Amino acid sequence: MQPEDDLVRFAADEPPAQAVESPINWKLLVVDDDEEVHEATRFALHDVRIADRPLRLIHAYTAEQAAEAIAADPDIAVILLDVVMESHDAGLKLVRRIREELGLANVRIILRTGQPGYAPELKVIRDYDINDYKTKAELTHTRLVTTLIAAIRSYEQIHAISENRRGLELIVNAAAGLMELPAMSAFAEGALLQIAALLKLPAEGIVCAQKESSLDDICSAESLHVVAAAGRLASCIGQPLALLAEPEIVDAICDCINRRTHIFGSQHTVLYLHDRRHDAAVFVRSEKPLAPTDRQLVEVFAANVSSCFRNVKLVEHLNFIAYHDPLTRLGNRAAFLADLEAAGTAGEADRLVCMLDIEHFTDVNNSLGHEIGDQLLQAVARRLAEACEDCRLARVDGDTFGLVGPKSRLVPERLLRLFETPFAAGEQQLQIEVQFGYCRVAGGEPGETLYKRADMALTHARLTRHKRYLYFTPRIEKRTRWRLDVIRDLRHAFHAQGLSVWYQPQISLDDEAVVGLEALLRWPNVPGFVHPPAVFIPLAEDSGMILDIGAWVLDQACATFQQLERRPRRLAVNVSMPQLRAPDFPQQVLRTLARHAMPPSALELEITESILLGEPEVVLRNLHALRDQGVQIAIDDFGTGYSSLSYLRELPIDCMKIDRSFVQEIDSGRGDVFAETIVALAHKLGMETVAEGVATSGQLARLRELGCGIAQGYLYARPMPTDALNKWLGMRRAGPAQ
Ligand code: C2E
Ligand code: MG
Ligand code: MG
Repeated sequence: MQPEDDLVRFAADEPPAQAVESPINWKLLVVDDDEEVHEATRFALHDVRIADRPLRLIHAYTAEQAAEAIAADPDIAVILLDVVMESHDAGLKLVRRIREELGLANVRIILRTGQPGYAPELKVIRDYDINDYKTKAELTHTRLVTTLIAAIRSYEQIHAISENRRGLELIVNAAAGLMELPAMSAFAEGALLQIAALLKLPAEGIVCAQKESSLDDICSAESLHVVAAAGRLASCIGQPLALLAEPEIVDAICDCINRRTHIFGSQHTVLYLHDRRHDAAVFVRSEKPLAPTDRQLVEVFAANVSSCFRNVKLVEHLNFIAYHDPLTRLGNRAAFLADLEAAGTAGEADRLVCMLDIEHFTDVNNSLGHEIGDQLLQAVARRLAEACEDCRLARVDGDTFGLVGPKSRLVPERLLRLFETPFAAGEQQLQIEVQFGYCRVAGGEPGETLYKRADMALTHARLTRHKRYLYFTPRIEKRTRWRLDVIRDLRHAFHAQGLSVWYQPQISLDDEAVVGLEALLRWPNVPGFVHPPAVFIPLAEDSGMILDIGAWVLDQACATFQQLERRPRRLAVNVSMPQLRAPDFPQQVLRTLARHAMPPSALELEITESILLGEPEVVLRNLHALRDQGVQIAIDDFGTGYSSLSYLRELPIDCMKIDRSFVQEIDSGRGDVFAETIVALAHKLGMETVAEGVATSGQLARLRELGCGIAQGYLYARPMPTDALNKWLGMRRAGPAQ
């Protein structure tokens, strides 16, 4: 028997250096309680090489020692196993343990017995997972070697198959993992680590990539940059490969990309990854050439990774699109929200969020074309980016930009100055007006909240027409909530046919005849309560709903007008600025008229002076187009809006409506100077006059004296629904004139 610590040991004839390089040897475990057998085996196998590799013998004298040796060294290729040791079947029990407990299916087991009676061949081969059965007597030197050669060959094949399977599993798992990495750098790092794991090498390596390669390009170290690196090379991530002070790596990578193939060197492996437009190379250092099975694995892996590479490029591109505005190359709304989230979390002192909107941008698009509109946005983006270098800037919507940064950069005085000089767009120099909504960053607010607050302040600044900027306050939030509630209710009412059109007659002061009807929108909400149009119409304009509602009012009014038994000369319909700005507004109107067989001259469109603000060419074009078809144009609330009268020369106007406030002044003691001036002006310009809100006979008498042609007001009739109107018109025909 051997001393305890020497029972399991490496063969004495193996040089120690070789002993560490385990894969180079075939490990053979000799299990027998007879030292002579060990000696004989050692002697017989001395100098034997199988498939060009020497054998390394491991010796065990009991089944227990053998189990320990196997557990410590799972790379053992063959076990020469005695049956009778501690017990008559100790060897057979060990076979069970190896296969079932230790789960080692690859190791080849040759049963070598001196007493075949204890382990009859047929029964043993049938019941135990052993690979060969020999009696000791039978195993001559030659038979032992040939038996071992056969066993090692079979081990090598089985081992290769199971290694391949393990490798393929690794590849499948690695590829699935890599697919989930969205950014190129994370993907490249993953690929590097997986290759190192696959080859059981330390993750010391580097990944380089070249963008936009083409077939005739010769790649150089300058055109490549490092996208991932591990180990001591990690410091060169993001740098050009040329800066790396390791010529071996630089040359190997350039060589790989230029030859478009993997390189399996004696000290390194370089894998070539590519898609249609990009090349990349993964460099992994190895001490020795790769074994053929590893090479195959790596090739399969590279093919797999190449297809992931394509996906990553695609995902990267999609990510870019998801966070960038392609027109200005600035961040988009999603990117701005992320910036705000970061600003809220950081909570630095004196930070502002600013939302900036270009006034009447739609008019630039409509009148000068989208190309000029795009160039204007680009010019604004450039100027803002230059002036606010240390801020985050994004285009969050069509003509709305978002900024977040130090207060000193974003205060309104500074930003407004940026818009004092015009912007070049194509051949044009465009002077634009902007409005700002501000919100202070206190720290701790979610990005979404900061966004909403700045946006509310901007909307409010826009509604309070003369304010260039507003800072968010809780009052603004309350007001916004109210507005949004009303807009939601209005939208619901509109779709549920809850709106109606009422009509107010217009009377000729010459002969008291009903010459016209003004269509006025009504939104009866709860019974007995009517939303004032002066409140909800601006909200409808703001939310864009007025386009649909306005078209519906026109349609309804024309239908009603055409069905009236006794039709006055004309129907007046109010139109809002957003309607007039729509490039196809004239066609819409003419189509509606045609649908109801109504002559264009029977329609009068009431517009307000505010449409002249910003001089939108498209509005002028639309009004001229309608007027050319015979539609009449009236200026509503005349004298209350725009201060310059020069527009009267440019606009095709048929009628002026004297605002109710001037009519009221007639008998309120403040005199009739405005009413008089307006009537005189209208006469001079050859226009008709309609006095609005005539409520007393005193006002009526004076207006008649002034020469005003038409009156509309409670004195004659309030606005009324169609049924009431029909009755009123019928009675008026029958009864005496007022
Ligand atoms: P407006 O076009 O100036 O309409 C005249 C307003 O004066 C109407 O108010 C009418 O009811 C009111 N009115 C008429 N006679 C008298 C009177 O003797 N005394 C008093 N106190 N008021 C009188 P309403 O219907 O509340 O409409 C307010 C404004 O809403 C309208 O002013 C118009 O600008 C707008 N509006 C109404 N319907 C529409 C529509 O369908 N589309 C558009 N875009 N705007 C509309
Ligand atoms: Mg009107
Ligand atoms: Mg009016």
